[in-house]
Amino acid sequence: MTRILDNSLLVRPLTSIALVAMLLIATSSVIYYVQKTLSDIEEALPIMLSHQERDIRVLVNDMGRLEQSIGLTRASGNALGFSVVIRQIDEIEQLLEKISENYHLNDLLGVSTIHARLNPAVFDIKNWLTNGISNFGPTSAHTLKLAEQRAKQAHEEAEVLLLQVGETAISVLHAQSERIENFRYIMVLTLAALTIMTIVLVLLGLRLQRSVLALKESEEQIRYRANYDSLTNLPNRPNFIEHLSEAISRSRRKPSHTALLFIDLDRFKTINDTLGHDFGDELIKQVAVRIQEAIRETDLVSRLGGDEFTVLLPDMIDGIHASVIAKSILDRLTEPFMIFGHEVYSGASIGITTCPMDGDDAHTLLKNADMAMYEAKDQGRNTFRFFTSQMTDKARHFLELDKDIRRALAEDELQLHFQPIYALRSQTLVGVEALLRWEHPKEGLILPAEFITVAEETGLIEDIGLWVLRRACTEAAAWLKRDLHPDFYLAVNISMRQFKGGFDRKQLTQILDETGFPADKLLLEITESLLMDDDTRIKDVLGRFRKMGIRIAVDDFGTGYSALSYLREFPVNTLKIDRSFIQQDKGNDWSLVEAIITMAHGLNLMTIAEGVETAEQTAMLSELGCDMVQGFFHCRPLPADEIESLTALKLPRLRAVPVKS
Ligand code: C2E
Ligand code: MG
Ligand code: MG
Repeated sequence: MTRILDNSLLVRPLTSIALVAMLLIATSSVIYYVQKTLSDIEEALPIMLSHQERDIRVLVNDMGRLEQSIGLTRASGNALGFSVVIRQIDEIEQLLEKISENYHLNDLLGVSTIHARLNPAVFDIKNWLTNGISNFGPTSAHTLKLAEQRAKQAHEEAEVLLLQVGETAISVLHAQSERIENFRYIMVLTLAALTIMTIVLVLLGLRLQRSVLALKESEEQIRYRANYDSLTNLPNRPNFIEHLSEAISRSRRKPSHTALLFIDLDRFKTINDTLGHDFGDELIKQVAVRIQEAIRETDLVSRLGGDEFTVLLPDMIDGIHASVIAKSILDRLTEPFMIFGHEVYSGASIGITTCPMDGDDAHTLLKNADMAMYEAKDQGRNTFRFFTSQMTDKARHFLELDKDIRRALAEDELQLHFQPIYALRSQTLVGVEALLRWEHPKEGLILPAEFITVAEETGLIEDIGLWVLRRACTEAAAWLKRDLHPDFYLAVNISMRQFKGGFDRKQLTQILDETGFPADKLLLEITESLLMDDDTRIKDVLGRFRKMGIRIAVDDFGTGYSALSYLREFPVNTLKIDRSFIQQDKGNDWSLVEAIITMAHGLNLMTIAEGVETAEQTAMLSELGCDMVQGFFHCRPLPADEIESLTALKLPRLRAVPVKS
């Protein structure tokens, strides 16, 4: 299902509020700054105007005084008066210059007009008077008269202009303060609008976020309803089909099997009809829980509808192992259910299909499992049937075997044999590998290949493994005590399922303490697949074993598909080269063995060649620098007492091996 909403669409309230607050602070700062500048201008403007007006007033007074001075000079006829008048004119000129140049508001106030109108008069008067001084005589009186008239005229004009400037200044001040007021008003309005907008935005944002969250929630609910059963919360049919299809394509890539269980309750209709739907619903819920208890962590239960359930069992070594889980589900479902204080019995019929045998697509597998389920019903219910009768027979045998192994463990039918391991250089016995045997009361000695996988699939290997370890350590501790052969080590096979089941330092220490076997004489053989497992706990556990002084060997090296880099990551110290490399059918190509030995030594690992059956193989391995050998040629696996006599002879030596120089 495609996602309706993306997480990134969610408005984060804190971020948006912070952004809005920053915006408000920035705007307020700008407004505050503008406001302050305006206030400064407001305060400065009247002062500037009053200074300017005062200068113009001084100019008008000076013009008046000039007029008087010219009049006095004309009346006294004193030539000295000319120079006084000229000085006054200079001062007026300077003042005019200052007024026209120094003030910013000249254009507004019309000061340029003052300059333009008064300056020519001042210029004329000055010219005449300067001429008058140089040509002092009868014409001087006439010059002074003209100058006096001109000065009078200029004085009057200056007074008129002063009046105009005063009026203009008042109106400028008025207009300016009106403009400032308007501006301030606009500012306040802007700030208010911005605040309102911000609040609206925040509210909208919060609302949007709420709607987005609500949408997301309903999207999750829709998705959940589309994929899960509301009564049991188990995946529903479409969801199951999807998982089944994925598992089928995975099993095409890996050499593994996928199995499918189709479960139908045996008495559900009767219970539902007689005791009511609430009763039926409660039963379905409890059935769902019991099925989940019976399966592995990697399996998937789902409810197809009504009283039909399916279980997907991916990554099985053999499809036949599905029968173990079917059996365990049936055992749980035949137990009584307590529903609203009543004891109810149900039971179920199960149909099983495996991929690729019974179909290689989800629908065919499901259809065939359904048919197998009806076959189980026909056969008297509370049982399982595979799609093919051969598989059902095989499963019956398989389950018999499981029952038998349980009995064997309980009744002490399991035994251990020990196979010697020799060092090629010293040609002496350096260790023994404990190998499981089953002394069947009717069938005689059974080798592990026939029952280990069943025990692994049913989980019984966890108990068997602990039994093997305890028994092997007990036997070997006895040899050590009697000093039969003090320098050997004991190799014990540990299955992956044991690690998955929680085999750890605690269990191992307990066995070593119980038996008195030293940790540094123990070698645990693990499989390559264990190194490939994603479970980080395994690496931790192996690391702890190494710290205890225990050695770790990779068994059957070269048969799995482990990436070689794992050898560096895991605390491994020995490689047991698989016998398929040693017993070569086609020609004598030892290059792979040579490569493994070279690599192992490069990584500081010891090598043991497994399945050595001939003197030639031993000689070749010795030449290639292999450290140890184990095989029928040197010694078959023997019961504990025979190993004892072997070491008691004090001749635990390798035979027929050319010693390397
Ligand atoms: P393995 O750990 O690789 O053990 C070596 C197997 O090779 C033994 O088979 C041994 O009898 C056999 N063998 C030794 N030398 C020769 C030879 O020269 N030629 C041939 N053809 N075979 C030779 P066995 O005892 O049948 O065990 C088979 C496998 O069962 C073991 O392979 C091991 O993976 C598993 N196994 C045995 N005992 C235990 C146990 O206690 N626990 C677990 N988890 N697995 C065990
Ligand atoms: Mg082994
Ligand atoms: Mg092996």
